[in-house]
Amino acid sequence: MSGALVLRSGRVAAPDGMRAAAVVVRDGRIAAVTDRDAHVDGATRDVDLGDLALLPGLVDTHVHVNEPGRTEWEGFATATRAAAAGGITTLCDMPLNSDPVTTTVEALRAKVRAARGQCAVDVAFWGGAVPGNTDQLVPLLDAGVVGFKCFLADTAIPEFPPLDRAGLRAAMSVLADTGAPVIVHAEDPAEITAPAGPGYDAFVASRPPVAERRAIETVVSAAAATGARAHIVHLAAAECAALIGAAKAAGIALSAETCPHYLFFAADEVPDGATQFKCCPPLRYAPNREALWRALAAEVIDCVVSDHSPCPPALKEGDFAAAWGGITSLQVALPAVWTVARERGHTLADIARWMSAFPASLAGLPAKGAIAPGRDADLVAFDPDATHVVRGADLLHRHPVTPYEGRALTGRVTRVWLRGAEILPDLPRGGRLLRRGGHDLVLS
Ligand SMILES: [Zn+2]
Repeated sequence: MSGALVLRSGRVAAPDGMRAAAVVVRDGRIAAVTDRDAHVDGATRDVDLGDLALLPGLVDTHVHVNEPGRTEWEGFATATRAAAAGGITTLCDMPLNSDPVTTTVEALRAKVRAARGQCAVDVAFWGGAVPGNTDQLVPLLDAGVVGFKCFLADTAIPEFPPLDRAGLRAAMSVLADTGAPVIVHAEDPAEITAPAGPGYDAFVASRPPVAERRAIETVVSAAAATGARAHIVHLAAAECAALIGAAKAAGIALSAETCPHYLFFAADEVPDGATQFKCCPPLRYAPNREALWRALAAEVIDCVVSDHSPCPPALKEGDFAAAWGGITSLQVALPAVWTVARERGHTLADIARWMSAFPASLAGLPAKGAIAPGRDADLVAFDPDATHVVRGADLLHRHPVTPYEGRALTGRVTRVWLRGAEILPDLPRGGRLLRRGGHDLVLS
């Protein structure tokens, strides 16, 4: 039996804030968090990280891996290596853009077969709620998904159509007693129009904040009526924070995420024709971005996850109306958020809460999300002061196209441990497939 691994740092992101500590790891789990200079019996490896910060491995609950079926867009091998290099030690795969979409147990089986043995980090799966598969939801949950994604607006993937109000309520009713969340792409199709021109402003205007607001109203009333847990994915319109905050205050089981790109970029800076910035809902203007930051600081927005959604470069050609929507960011999410969080006075403890602790609880992964005794020893050494310029070609994503190209970011992941085993830079395929509750996902 191997002895303990000890990691010492002056800046450990513990659940109660940043502090100097020694983290003791035995058998892949955190055994203790103790004084930085403490003597540890049986330590066979003792690493002093100096001024490097130690973060809990990030949990990214919003990743489109696209395998099987569209592996040429992104696959488990490339996505999980990029994730690991970016400090993400667990990712949750979205149920669409792959073929088949994960709306049946059989399709989950195809996902598991595709992912097994390929992953550098731990992986869990969202199921999909679509018209006509309500009877599949509990079987999918029993088979191992962590919850369900649905859309209220068109997805551009014909086999993954949106739910209407009645469909949303039916899905949430079935799941109300399970604790599994329904995570919703909240844009109301009645408020979306065709862009009036080819430029970015016309695209933004075609998907206005009211589209998000009307859809969130639909989600809030469905959550209130059914008692199911609901979560708003990629919130872009900051004006919706009032609605979400009010629903939470009323005791409705609602949470919300936003994404690095909404916190980093603003519509004002999107160059003509730069479709690498296209996503839905769109990047909005600078005052909206600052309001998103206030909502995050006020804990109305609970977490920040990537919505990494790549496609082959050819699908990004054309104008904003025609190009595929989706931003590539898995490997740069942590430094991108840290760059702009630090400017606004936030700490790495905030980053740990937004990008690890809350997503772990959303996905029902109790061994993840914190540097605390009993948790998996998923740990990230992070230099919070190092700067670098993003070059898409250097990233481990399948495709280099990213709106962060050429941007200077602060913060660099230097070492990563998955269940106590150091995985950078070799990135072995030691990631596990996990089910809600955190056990291994085993599907024959
Ligand atoms: Zn997405």
